[in-house]
Amino acid sequence: MTQHTHNKPKSGQVKEITSAANPVIKDLRALSQKKYRDREGIFLAEGLKLVTDALDLDWVIRTFVFARTALDNPLVAKTAARARAAGALVIEANNKVMEAITRRDNPQNVIAVFEQRWCKAETMDFARQTLLLGLDRVRDPGNLGTIIRTADAVGASGILLIGDTTDPFSLEAVRATRGSVFAVPLYRLGEQKFLDWRRSFSGMVVGTHLQGAVDYRQIDYKKEPMLLLMGNEQQGLSDNLAAACDRLARIPQAGQADSLNLAVATGVMLYEMRRNHLTLDVRSA
Ligand code: SAM
Repeated sequence: MTQHTHNKPKSGQVKEITSAANPVIKDLRALSQKKYRDREGIFLAEGLKLVTDALDLDWVIRTFVFARTALDNPLVAKTAARARAAGALVIEANNKVMEAITRRDNPQNVIAVFEQRWCKAETMDFARQTLLLGLDRVRDPGNLGTIIRTADAVGASGILLIGDTTDPFSLEAVRATRGSVFAVPLYRLGEQKFLDWRRSFSGMVVGTHLQGAVDYRQIDYKKEPMLLLMGNEQQGLSDNLAAACDRLARIPQAGQADSLNLAVATGVMLYEMRRNHLTLDVRSA
């Protein structure tokens, strides 16, 4: 018996769906809307890499859907078996159904539903934090996903989403994280709650501001934990949040651009703040 024949899901363990009008598929399609994601506390992740990343990090899986065309792929079959063992409903679907769920042409051959996971800022263990990132009302899902991915890459210990932000569990944001949404602890809190929490945080709080008086490279980032605060794409950091910072840093610019893109500015800051921790062999350390 070949490996993949052995791993192939057995009939009876897999539900076959061929119509996008099937109620199970309708429920999955509804997850493109935030109100349903919030109500159910779940979200969609696409692609085998993301789904295996999530399972490796013990995220709770509810549903696993694979394309009929992927039936002979041993990795898909193995992941389907893992999902089933974890208690998920396993569905085999045709391409039309896969497109309907993800609302795009050329969908990935695997889609899964996971439970959302939020951490509580009030119970944060400060001794375990290195660099935290706070985002003031981030609006763009692509920016948020890119920032989560970058925060993961530098080994940041968590992201605080402050005020009315875009949803990190939207399809677009999850896609842009490339799996890092499963690796970085996420916190959400209103501005006032954040300001209350900030009083208990004894590390340095560095905000970035186009009027910042300090060149970001002149700040000493050796003492942990630290918190980096980034402003909204249109309005920058609110006055209240700017006032809560120990330092307001600016990234120098030449040329005509009036500011950097939020995700780019966050990347520049995170790499500077983690400069002493990142070496080429850091993954094996
Ligand atoms: N119109 C906004 C303003 O006046 O602040 C521009 C906001 S900018 C697109 C989004 C965020 O990126 C800013 O709030 C800040 O956190 C960061 N940022 C962008 N360029 C920056 C720079 N040169 N120095 C410091 N922060 C910067």
